[in-house]
Amino acid sequence: MKVTDHIQQAAGKTLFSFEILPPLKGQNIQSIFDHIDPLLEFKPAFIDVTYHREEYVYKELDNGLLQKQVVKKRPGTVGICAAIQNRYQVDAIPHILCGGFTREDTENFLIDLDFLGIDNVMALRGDAVKNEIYFKPEKEGHAYASELVAQIQNLNQGKYLDEELLNSSATDFCIGVAAYPEKHIEAPNLESDIYFLKKKIDIGASYIVTQMFFDNQKFFDFVKRCREVGIQVPIIPGIKPITTRHQINLIPHRFHVDLPDILLHEIIKCKDHQAVQQVGLEWAVSQSKELKAAGIPVLHYYSMGKSDVVHKIAAAVF
Ligand SMILES: Cc1cc2nc3c(=O)[nH]c(=O)nc-3n(C[C@H](O)[C@H](O)[C@H](O)COP(=O)(O)OP(=O)(O)OC[C@H]3O[C@@H](n4cnc5c(N)ncnc54)[C@H](O)[C@@H]3O)c2cc1C
Repeated sequence: MKVTDHIQQAAGKTLFSFEILPPLKGQNIQSIFDHIDPLLEFKPAFIDVTYHREEYVYKELDNGLLQKQVVKKRPGTVGICAAIQNRYQVDAIPHILCGGFTREDTENFLIDLDFLGIDNVMALRGDAVKNEIYFKPEKEGHAYASELVAQIQNLNQGKYLDEELLNSSATDFCIGVAAYPEKHIEAPNLESDIYFLKKKIDIGASYIVTQMFFDNQKFFDFVKRCREVGIQVPIIPGIKPITTRHQINLIPHRFHVDLPDILLHEIIKCKDHQAVQQVGLEWAVSQSKELKAAGIPVLHYYSMGKSDVVHKIAAAVF
């Protein structure tokens, strides 16, 4: 079922959803099931599965020269989505990127998803390959998520890359896109970022999922600005519980979001790992309760392998 239909059917009740990462290559899918099983109690409306593009690693040869190798450390996005839908009858949402995909790759990926009965896709640009500063699209690929949304939307109208295909069948994907309450790192300012977000919606995206944030006011202000420029679709907040002390530096570095002073000081005061987890948990619960009280349609958790923490949050909120 489409995310937008889930929201409509919920008729004002806040839904629960979460995101998982495919396991590292070499591990099996049981770790994913072990992660999902306890969270089923809260009836997730959908489960997102991230996509991880290739990375370049350098292997030293016997002669001392370095050989560049392309590796994909977390393959399996499509297979995991199929397994989730098959095993749990819960909607699985694969993330799909511009990075590393030609238009042809994208079309073939979408055909697989359509055949698997997947109704939603999260359309993203992706980041630069590790060790490179700027994102580079494939020669025959997309430079921005808006172009990817346009290709999915074309397929939804039965327009394939080969315009001469006869009697082609239209897909019916509900398209989600990303947004950043604290601005995407490359955007010159929030206004410009929201301008391009609106473009993704105008082209055909039906809902938005945000980057994590730790200050609800930033989310509420962001939603207000989006509504002011005419973005009407559901805006789903992404929530990440802090689980380690190290994350107070890692999260701002990797995701370009701020931690509020109070949260920071509470974490710094902690004597051990368990105390940090408790602070992170309480913060996420209080964020969630406030968002739920504000009538937000879905709370989406970045579980990052910590299903026990997300379970505790969901138990307190749903
Ligand atoms: C909810 C969520 C899920 C994610 N899942 C994944 C995942 O599974 N795998 C992964 O690798 N990454 C994932 N990411 C990270 C994402 O790929 C990066 O943040 C990436 O840098 C931007 O992706 P985007 O889709 O927001 O890009 P875009 O919407 O293309 O925007 C990228 C930047 O370009 C600007 N921009 C957009 N259009 C134009 C234009 N026409 N001209 C000039 N500037 C423009 C925007 O303002 C922004 O600064 C996720 C992010 C979020 C928030």
